[in-house]
Amino acid sequence: MSEIIKNIKGTKDILGNESNLWQYIESEIHSFMKLYGYDEIRTPKFENSSLFNRSIGQDTDIVSKEMYSWKDQGGNNLTLKPEVTASVVRAFIQHNLGKRNPLNKLYYIDSLFRRERPQKGRYRQFEQFGVEAIGSENPEQDAEIISLAYNFYSKIGIKDLKLKINSIGSKNSREEYKKSLKSFLKPHLDKLTSVSQKRFNNNPLRILDTKVQTEIEIIKKAPRIIDYLSQVDKKHFKKVLFYLDSMEIKYEIDHYLVRGLDYYCKTVFEIQSNDLGSQSALCGGGRYDYLIEELGGKKTPAIGFAAGIERLILAMNYDDNRFNKSTDIFIVTIGEDAISMGLKISDSIRLNTKLAVTCDMLRRSLKSQMKEANKLNAKYSIIIGEDELQANKVIIKDMNSGVQKNVHFDKINLFFK
Ligand code: AMP
Repeated sequence: MSEIIKNIKGTKDILGNESNLWQYIESEIHSFMKLYGYDEIRTPKFENSSLFNRSIGQDTDIVSKEMYSWKDQGGNNLTLKPEVTASVVRAFIQHNLGKRNPLNKLYYIDSLFRRERPQKGRYRQFEQFGVEAIGSENPEQDAEIISLAYNFYSKIGIKDLKLKINSIGSKNSREEYKKSLKSFLKPHLDKLTSVSQKRFNNNPLRILDTKVQTEIEIIKKAPRIIDYLSQVDKKHFKKVLFYLDSMEIKYEIDHYLVRGLDYYCKTVFEIQSNDLGSQSALCGGGRYDYLIEELGGKKTPAIGFAAGIERLILAMNYDDNRFNKSTDIFIVTIGEDAISMGLKISDSIRLNTKLAVTCDMLRRSLKSQMKEANKLNAKYSIIIGEDELQANKVIIKDMNSGVQKNVHFDKINLFFK
């Protein structure tokens, strides 16, 4: 016997009822985005590697060790998309979207690839939805994006949401802070991990992003970036908080929240759920006012967030039966002659009423076909046997009440309208 080929570690198959749950979430995302006036953007699954090398940052985990990159037969360096913002910005610049619209409000649902250590809530291929608002530098844009994320989770029924927010300032504010952070960390350098020691020189802010407990203890006494913000940055942050207050969105200022990607500036935020355990972040985002210019476009302010769908599912409390496979009508055919009539009636109902119809394909006994109709929660079954064929009629059974009715072939669609 030949060996069975299995899926790759960190990937998964979505089967049966679970795919109904995914469809539900995706349709909720699409309709929610419409409420906020965001348009969908779809970008390719792979891009030139340089796009991610230039945007995400060389010392981030993603670029330094997690990207799936390869050289194709034509010698091009390619990468499976590890995040979406860089691709959206590439498309924004390439298609000159800024010229078409002063403000581009975009959203996506996409598959991402990162070679991380797989665990609950962390995969090597995972799905994200997210939004990017490109064109406004105003704090109301930050507040709208944050409220969109927060309200989406509330609407889909996630309780115990925790919104953490911080400002990491614009470039100038950050330079001052970096100096002060480095002088604070210097005496502790030998107690930091080798990764953080490397970051100490290249990107000390990223040390704040540590998940190592001993480092977290040290950082608790580190200077706070908020004390180093310029007046303009401070005013921006205050306004964002003011708008959140006025929308009655609760937040917690986390002075050490910096996020894992290098391109962020000013407002950064994360929404967590207590139900998630160690991988508690549902979504994260922030401003990236410099990225478009850094990737060769015209200086354009922007803000966005990305949200993991697997994490959302882990945090969702839903009735297991809610996403069961179902149908409106089950067609029971008895005997070979009834099959063609069954097929014809099925299509006619589907096309004329939009009701979902399932027709037996296994030539089962009457009893097991009725059992299947029950399993699929059919509201009605239509029974076609020898006698019915002779009389040009079918039996329509209301599966709830058990009431049966004889209906002429020509009147079936009318019955369901
Ligand atoms: P990031 O793009 O790293 O800012 O992550 C944004 C969100 O995507 C996180 O808050 C998670 O919900 C989700 N996420 C990130 N990495 C993974 C992963 N490896 N597996 C599953 N979800 C992920």
